[in-house]
Amino acid sequence: MDTLRLAIVGYGKIARDQHHPAIDDNARYRLTAVSSRNASVADVANFESLEALLEQGPEIDAVSLCTPAGVRTAQARLAMASGKHVMLEKPPGATLAEIETLREDAERHGVTLFASWHSRHAHCVDSARQWLATRQIRRVDIEWKEDVRVWHPGQAWIWQPGGMGVFDPGINALSIVTEILPRPFHLTDAQLQVPGNCQTPIAASLDFVDGENVPIHAEFDFRQQGTPPIWNIHVETDEGRLTLEAGGSRLLIDGELREEGPDAEYAGLYERFATLIAEGRSDVDVSPFRHVADALMLGHRHTVEDFVE
Ligand code: NAP
Repeated sequence: MDTLRLAIVGYGKIARDQHHPAIDDNARYRLTAVSSRNASVADVANFESLEALLEQGPEIDAVSLCTPAGVRTAQARLAMASGKHVMLEKPPGATLAEIETLREDAERHGVTLFASWHSRHAHCVDSARQWLATRQIRRVDIEWKEDVRVWHPGQAWIWQPGGMGVFDPGINALSIVTEILPRPFHLTDAQLQVPGNCQTPIAASLDFVDGENVPIHAEFDFRQQGTPPIWNIHVETDEGRLTLEAGGSRLLIDGELREEGPDAEYAGLYERFATLIAEGRSDVDVSPFRHVADALMLGHRHTVEDFVE
C-alpha cells in the first residue's frame, strides 16, 4: 500500500503528546499538513483552518481530528465530503445522533471513518478480554481518578456543554469495559457532582447491571491530587480477581502481576486506521458514548464548590 498522506487538525495536548509521535514512528504514514489556529509545525504545510488546508494544501489522503468533540463533526463532514478518510479522537461526537450522520456520510463518500478509542489499545486489554471470556463474572469495580489540572490544563471546553467533564477520561474506562465484558450492560443509577460554575460533572458515581444481573460500579473523579492517576478496573470471577491497572497496561490475577507492557495505544490506533483504509471499512462503535449519554440523562445532579483552575 502507498504511504498515507495525513493531516492533523487541532494541534493541542493530545496531538503533540501522542498523535504526532505515533505518526512519525509509523512507516505507513507521512504527516503532510497541520491545521491549527495557534501552532506551527516544522517540516509540514501549515494552515489556520481545515477549509484552507483542503482548498490550498498539498494532496492528502486522510485527516486525524484532534479537536474537541464540539467542533469535530463539522470538520469530519467537510473532510469526508472532500474524499478524505477520517479518524476521530474520542469521544466520537458531542451527540449520539450526529455520529449517525457521520456514519452515513462515510458510506456515501466511500471513505473510512474510524471512531477511535485509544484505551482499547492498551497493552493488556485483549488479554483481559480473553481471560474473562471463559469465566463467570460476579462483579466489576471501576476507579478512574485523575487531577484535572495536570491532565487537562487550560481546557475550558471540558466544563462547557458537550465537554463531558469527568466523563472525558471516564469514557476511556467505559471503552475498555465494553470491550472486555462478554455481555452488554446498562445504567441503573448515576450521581453527578457538578461545580456551581460549570456545566459538566467533576465527579460521577455510576451503577450498571448486565443481563445476568452482574453489578458494575464506577467512580470517576477529577479531584485526585498529589498521586499518580488511578485508572483501574477490577473484575471478580468464579476463578479469581482480574485487575487491569494503569489504564490497561498492567494485568494482575489475584494481586499477582501476569502481564505488563509499554504505552503503545496510539501506535495501535494508527495501525488500525491504516488497516481499515486498506480494507475499505469503517469502525464506529458508540457503546462507551451511549453510557455517558445515559448518565447525563438519568443522573442526579449535586452542586459542589466552584472549580477554579
Ligand atoms: P486541547 O489541548 O484543548 O487541544 C484541542 C485543540 O483543538 C486545541 O489546542 C485547538 O488546536 C483545537 N480547538 C479547540 N477549540 C477549537 C475550536 N473551537 N475550533 C477549532 N479548533 C479548536 O485538548 P486535548 O486534550 O488535546 O483533547 C482533544 C481531544 O482529544 C478531546 O476529545 C479529548 O477527549 C481527546 N483526548 C485527550 C487526552 C488528554 O490526555 N488530554 C487523551 C486522549 C484523548 P489549535 O490551537 O491547534 O487550533
